[in-house]
Amino acid sequence: MGREAHVTTSKSADTPPVGESLGRAFELVCPSCHGPLGSGPLRCEACGRAFRVHEGVPVFLDPDGWEAARSARAVPSRARDDYSRVRRACILTQMYYDAWVDRLLAEVPRDGGALVELMCGEGELSRRLPPWVRAALAVDRDPEAAQVAARDLAHDRRVTVAVGDATALPVATGGASAVVIIGGLHHARPELARILREVARVLRPRGVLVASEPANDHPLVRRVRRWQYSRSTSQGHDPDEDGFTRGELELAMAPHGLRLATYDVFGFVAYPLMGNTDLLPLLEGARSRLLGRALLGLDAALERVPVIRRLGWASRFVARREATV
Ligand SMILES: [Zn+2]
Repeated sequence: MGREAHVTTSKSADTPPVGESLGRAFELVCPSCHGPLGSGPLRCEACGRAFRVHEGVPVFLDPDGWEAARSARAVPSRARDDYSRVRRACILTQMYYDAWVDRLLAEVPRDGGALVELMCGEGELSRRLPPWVRAALAVDRDPEAAQVAARDLAHDRRVTVAVGDATALPVATGGASAVVIIGGLHHARPELARILREVARVLRPRGVLVASEPANDHPLVRRVRRWQYSRSTSQGHDPDEDGFTRGELELAMAPHGLRLATYDVFGFVAYPLMGNTDLLPLLEGARSRLLGRALLGLDAALERVPVIRRLGWASRFVARREATV
């Protein structure tokens, strides 16, 4: 506890209180013991652990985790910068995310329960929340990405943005109706089991994990994906950039009481074109919403063609938390 207490007072930018974030709709708890957090300084009323607030964003990492996250961010990454740019500057990419998020949110129960966006980056989902979502938490380990999300979402009191670890969330047990992850799990493969265990903890019984990941079900898709990444100027030879098969996901989720309810593959032409960072210069030049709609329409049509529908680049799945784990 001594170390955390020291951290909260170590820098002027991190000074509590955190009145603003506590005034938001989502109720944060201590990620260590799940006890309540006091108002004013961000400190657990049960175990006494204190948390820093960095430039207005609460940080739920221990000091080592915080240093690791800061160091990771300090390493230049063209892939990260390109992804950020393409999602902000390119109309076609924004249109793809609009459609993607829409379809994922269609799987979220409208029961008034809270939603958690994990590995949220700059908050692609939380920036597109429909009016029926009452409270949401967007979490990422990357302090700078979380800050961008927090800045963009400052006006939306429903959403709390936090820096944190997907394996230890500041969420009450059973405190969420849905956890949504867009393409994050394949970047966290070594921690997959711990993340899924934590997802199951925060979901209420019958709550859902709704996620989208690169799909590795079809051998042709696997081969083309590996070829593409080997040629990619932006993503390089990143070993993270591989997908999951349906079976792998089912196997990983089962021990945590998460049962796969639906699994579809999608994304044929629009998906690899509209968000592809290797095409950044092209995408930045494309200003036509009409082209975007045509590409999205083409993907929707291909999804209905029996042989082709198995060749999607991405999966979209829903896993339901069993009533008792
Ligand atoms: Zn605590």
